[in-house]
Amino acid sequence: MNKINSLKRKNNFKYFILITIMPILGVVVIFTYAFLQVQKDLKFITEEITGLETIKEIQNSVFNIQKLRGLACIQTPTADSTKELELIKEKVSKNFMLLQQKIGAQNEKTPLKAELLGFIDSIEKDFLKTAGFNYLSEIIEELMNYSSKISYECNLVLDSELNSYVMVDNVLYLLPQLIEYSGQIRAIATSTKDRKLTKQQKEYFAIQLNKIKENLKKLEFNLAILYKTEQNIDMREPHLKMKKAQSNIIEFTEKHLLNIKSVPPDPNKIFELTTKNINSIIALYDINIALLEKSLDNRLKEANKLSIYVILTGLIAILFIIYINGIFYRKNRSFIEEIHRMTITDSMTSLYNRRYFDEVFGSNLKIQSRTKQPLAFIILDIDFFKQYNDTYGHHEGDNVIKIVAEKLKESLKRAGDMAFRLGGEEFGILCIGINHAEALSFSNTIKENIEDEKIEHEKNRASRYLTVSMGVIIIEPNLLFTTNEIYKFADEALYEAKQKGRNQVVVYKHKS
Ligand code: GH3
Ligand code: MG
Ligand code: MG
Repeated sequence: MNKINSLKRKNNFKYFILITIMPILGVVVIFTYAFLQVQKDLKFITEEITGLETIKEIQNSVFNIQKLRGLACIQTPTADSTKELELIKEKVSKNFMLLQQKIGAQNEKTPLKAELLGFIDSIEKDFLKTAGFNYLSEIIEELMNYSSKISYECNLVLDSELNSYVMVDNVLYLLPQLIEYSGQIRAIATSTKDRKLTKQQKEYFAIQLNKIKENLKKLEFNLAILYKTEQNIDMREPHLKMKKAQSNIIEFTEKHLLNIKSVPPDPNKIFELTTKNINSIIALYDINIALLEKSLDNRLKEANKLSIYVILTGLIAILFIIYINGIFYRKNRSFIEEIHRMTITDSMTSLYNRRYFDEVFGSNLKIQSRTKQPLAFIILDIDFFKQYNDTYGHHEGDNVIKIVAEKLKESLKRAGDMAFRLGGEEFGILCIGINHAEALSFSNTIKENIEDEKIEHEKNRASRYLTVSMGVIIIEPNLLFTTNEIYKFADEALYEAKQKGRNQVVVYKHKS
């Protein structure tokens, strides 16, 4: 019986594992997908941040090279401007060093790392000696090209968030271009020896002015988008200053550089004026890049948080599934066990019923033949029970059946022994590992115990009290009988006991 139960329990457990594993697998798949998506976002933003760091460093170098170009172009330098030129040369050298350090520290896989380092290496040696307008402009252009390429490689221009995308547009194109166009005007305007500008130079100014005006329009459009977000309000003041500075440059260029009648001021003066204005545009650039860095950092933090939430929610979902299924599994198991117990038990006596007897009789026979132990089957029947009912009533008859059942239960001592109510006032007992003598003595004890209850039964011709008759059969392991045969033989022995006068035990004798 334990074997059968443990088999059922195992099957139940398999079912539990199955209904638990399936939803868990689903949760794992969904949450792994979500986690990977967040990780993708994290990687995307991290690359953007690394790219932006490099671009910022490149642009700082560019700003100083632009200033250097302006100073180097002054054909009539003063002591101050010469001193400033030396200072800015030092600054550019420092910028390059910093840039090399920054890129050098980045991951080997960082896009364009080797190329950019190679480029800086190649220009560094003769850079400060040959500081002419064209050469420096080429370097500036090349460095800005690198910024642009890095912005693609590091996803900056692919950012799907409008705010970031607009800021990238500002710090990567619009503001650096404005600064460069103004820087070129500064450098060319300071390069006149005798304060005379050629026709070609004037045409160049006109072109630069148009480009400046066009970029300013785009910038206004971009900033209007950014002002929709509260966090970008900080930009308003530098923005106004930049606008004023840029219109100063435009006005100055139109009045002093493009006007045929006017003579351009002293180059040192021009440098001073334009540099002041350019610095205002750089200030707007600085605040823009700082805000972009801040917003990327915030998004990185959010993505990090989100990945933790995804893991936690996934774990909670899994624990919940295990918990709920565990509850259902336990409830279900006890429910099944209860139903099973009910189906195998006789409700009046609480002994096993006939159905269960049929179920275990065969399996006990198999166990017996495997373990090579003898098996005893005992049939017990109350004597003259019809008369008992007739005399004392059906209700008393029921009570007597219960008492006999109790006596049977009490008499079972060994773990494998089982008692059944086979029907009416007829009972069965199965014992494994019991020999002939033991079975006989065991049966006689039961028989005597029942008579010793001294239940009055006046119509019993075998005794004054209620008695039982018993048929016993011992099946040795080497005897191969079917359950039907064994039942029949036990019944024959019982019949013999009845024939012999009842209130006795008859052991079936195998015919040789
Ligand atoms: P014998 O000594 O030959 O066994 O005679 P008997 O009267 O005991 O046997 P018989 O088969 O003639 O009668 C059995 C009776 O048991 C008939 C039936 O009314 C009674 N009986 C069967 N089941 C129940 C039950 O659950 N409750 C009661 N009170 N009587 C039952
Ligand atoms: Mg009877
Ligand atoms: Mg009977």
